[in-house]
Amino acid sequence: MYDPLVHPFPDRSQPDPDSYWLKVGNEAPADDGPVAGDLSVDVAIIGGGYTGLSAALALGRDHGIKATVLEARSSAWGCSGRNGSFARISGGRVPWSSLVKTYGRDTARAYFDELRQGLDTVRDLISTGGIACDKQPDGVYKVAAFGAHAGALRREEELYNEVLGYPARYVDAGGLHGVHEGPESHGALYLPDGFSLNPLELARGLHRMARSHGARIHTNSPATDWMREGDTHRLVTPAGTVRARRVIVATNGYTSSRLHPRLAARILPVHSQIIVTAPMSQAQVEASLPSGKCMFDTRGLLFYYRRLPDDRMLFGGRSAISGSDAAAPRHRQYLYDAMTRKFPALAGISVDHWWGGWVAVTRNSLPFCYRVPAMGDVFTAGGYAGSGVSFSIHLGTKLALMAAGRPFETGAAFLAREPERYPFASFIRLGQWMAYRWLHARDAREARRAG
Ligand SMILES: Cc1cc2nc3c(=O)[nH]c(=O)nc-3n(C[C@H](O)[C@H](O)[C@H](O)COP(=O)(O)OP(=O)(O)OC[C@H]3O[C@@H](n4cnc5c(N)ncnc54)[C@H](O)[C@@H]3O)c2cc1C
Repeated sequence: MYDPLVHPFPDRSQPDPDSYWLKVGNEAPADDGPVAGDLSVDVAIIGGGYTGLSAALALGRDHGIKATVLEARSSAWGCSGRNGSFARISGGRVPWSSLVKTYGRDTARAYFDELRQGLDTVRDLISTGGIACDKQPDGVYKVAAFGAHAGALRREEELYNEVLGYPARYVDAGGLHGVHEGPESHGALYLPDGFSLNPLELARGLHRMARSHGARIHTNSPATDWMREGDTHRLVTPAGTVRARRVIVATNGYTSSRLHPRLAARILPVHSQIIVTAPMSQAQVEASLPSGKCMFDTRGLLFYYRRLPDDRMLFGGRSAISGSDAAAPRHRQYLYDAMTRKFPALAGISVDHWWGGWVAVTRNSLPFCYRVPAMGDVFTAGGYAGSGVSFSIHLGTKLALMAAGRPFETGAAFLAREPERYPFASFIRLGQWMAYRWLHARDAREARRAG
């Protein structure tokens, strides 16, 4: 499997994922095929996921610039076509209490507003673009996996209400009946905004809209080499080259460490996997997730899950570390065991789909959106840490703004900084393995204590 720390780019031999979204999706939209010959373009965008497609749409629609997207495989082949489907007020993975402590209340509030705008951007896009992506009603639950976590959720409720001015609400264990069943229902934080959808259809809608505003989307066109000729960037693809003065890098967790030395080691690609079961019986639905809302739990290595419209369970989490190990059956079993521990009524149910993808985690676990220093007109955004459905689309519009020569003004100044490099890049995965061991041990200890 493609591994950004090992391979130079996702090449044609990389298969499509065994994803539920590909099965239930409609026909892929038309694209402009591979780059052929030598092109000179205004703005080149590397990566055709939400970030790149949103930037292409905004360039055409808001700034009158026809962008050229280079996608290594097919549009939304990366995370955007294969994610867990939750569009939330989220981005990165820093608890709000730590964010307030590190950056102060004003910055935390400004960041929350930026994330909130992200979700509004997606809502607007779906309605103005008439994107048929099976958007579900709003409502997100962060569920206490252990009784001891309920207190932390109550404190988080207070922080949401008093610092961020947001009406999150604590729901006690009794209030979860008819919403979230099973032995791990110890109370939850309810967030009224956030919904699930078909992520691949959302990306395809963006793709169509971007093309209708003049963007060209070249598939099977990985940037395999990058040269600078004065003010111009020359991007080499297998069947042609693209010259552009302005470049947007939108490769996020799929960024190979060989794409450009300036970008190397600034994100850690982290593998996230999903299983989708066969349709549940009515009794299984009632004993697991009677509500179809977005759910995730409070474990150190958290699980996210939802009931799909055809009553299948989608259940995701992190386990594999390298691409060469990601297809090992024990990772599928890890998710299955966690799912049936949470919902014993699902014991024995078969799994119809199992796939994974690379999310990007920065050293501070926060996203970025900035003009890359010392590279001329090069702009990049990413680092959503597995929470990027809405924020990637939002930051795509900010990349377009910057590429059009206007500033990205935000009260969350950290967003606009170049992420620090991971030190000891060659040992990066050893550190990740140790962190996973520690988090597993902590979760297991809490489970033992809870009996
Ligand atoms: C299993 C899984 C579950 C997730 N669940 C959720 C969720 O429920 N909610 C949420 O908010 N977020 C979730 N995410 C994260 C979310 O999907 C991402 O944050 C978001 O899709 C990022 O979009 P992107 O466009 O920045 O990157 P991607 O969609 O990953 O796009 C990057 C693209 O760059 C291309 N590329 C790479 N190198 C090159 C090159 N050299 N030349 C040309 N193209 C190149 C790749 O082929 C890829 O298509 C999940 C991710 C995964 C993997």
